[in-house]
Amino acid sequence: MTPRSLRRVQVLRMACCDREWVGADRAHCCSRFGGCGGVFDDAELWDTHRPRGTCVADPGELGMVATRNGIWLRPLDEAS
Ligand SMILES: [Zn+2]
Ligand SMILES: [Zn+2]
Repeated sequence: MTPRSLRRVQVLRMACCDREWVGADRAHCCSRFGGCGGVFDDAELWDTHRPRGTCVADPGELGMVATRNGIWLRPLDEAS
């Protein structure tokens, strides 16, 4: 009998639209469906970048900040 090994791998690698990111919860605005190709930290940010049903060219204008990998996050409190 083979022991079933169902170790959930938390880190899920995704790749699409020439981007790579980690995590299944990210919201990707896929260019295959007319999106901008952006990757957002969650669905709410994804909504935010389409204020009128179209993608903003630069989510940075909405106050989002991009990680090194090009994933858009909520602005961080930079109080230090
Ligand atoms: Zn895509
Ligand atoms: Zn988009």
